[in-house]
Amino acid sequence: MKRDSEQVGVGRDEAVAALMQLASGRGRFVAFTGAGISTESGIPDYRGPGGVWEQRKPPTIGDYLHNEETRRHYWERRRLDYPTLSSREPNQGHLALARLETMGVLTTVITQNIDGLHQKAGNADDRVIELHGTAHRIRCMTCERLYDAGDIQQRLLAGEPDPPCANCGGVLRSATVLFGESLPREALDRAISAAQECDFMLVVGSSLVVNPAAKLPALAKRQGAAIAIINRTVTAADELADVHILGEAGPTLNGFANAIAEQVEPSR
Ligand code: NAD
Repeated sequence: MKRDSEQVGVGRDEAVAALMQLASGRGRFVAFTGAGISTESGIPDYRGPGGVWEQRKPPTIGDYLHNEETRRHYWERRRLDYPTLSSREPNQGHLALARLETMGVLTTVITQNIDGLHQKAGNADDRVIELHGTAHRIRCMTCERLYDAGDIQQRLLAGEPDPPCANCGGVLRSATVLFGESLPREALDRAISAAQECDFMLVVGSSLVVNPAAKLPALAKRQGAAIAIINRTVTAADELADVHILGEAGPTLNGFANAIAEQVEPSR
């Protein structure tokens, strides 16, 4: 079905009504989220106004691997920043997506985020595809051993400036994708399948400029899925949207989950 893109700029009720109309009769929902879903939890995005890129850019993988100074700087930042990240709580947008999963409506969350807030909100681990990895794990670049981020944080606090792997002495790194690296193949393959198989993709809080992740909505669209984009600002792929909501993600997602709950559980 071809329909003209509908842009909804004001009014949460209007936005929720547009989402409900688009979702009507569609079975498999997938959410595709970016940094924008977590700004309401106090985690800055990269490219929105006031985003991290206005202050500093993260290292490339080449620089990180070959430059001890870069690593020391990275770990120093992490020592300061990780306690804040790990203390952040899901906001109403994350909680709405978790409720949609519990109601049996949302099958998969594909996220570019590394903050773990979808799982903290209640989405099942195996239904969250973390395209860019997770900040809550640390991985050895030589033997692949994984560590909880909290364990490495203890070593940073104890004064190690560039902690080596306790198993093999290799270089440790966050289990996240750095600039210049490919996405983890398995996560990308799962995300591609989910995008190809869904009937409705809800794109939330992503500028849609980072590829290949940003191509997933186009893939879903080609396979016949309806696309809704909820974003504070315009994105690089707004032309894909059947419904495009310019605004805050949390209240809109909360309203949408409430409206779906009315249909799924009318007596509650
Ligand atoms: P991005 O920063 O490029 O874009 C975020 C978009 O969300 C912007 O267009 C912004 O206007 C919008 N936005 C911000 N707050 C919003 C809100 N409350 N409601 C609706 N829209 C909102 O982010 P991206 O597209 O995800 O790509 C950036 C990369 O940044 C990803 O690779 C991701 O791994 C990484 N990142 C992750 C986190 C996190 O884990 N929370 C934070 C910063 C960056």
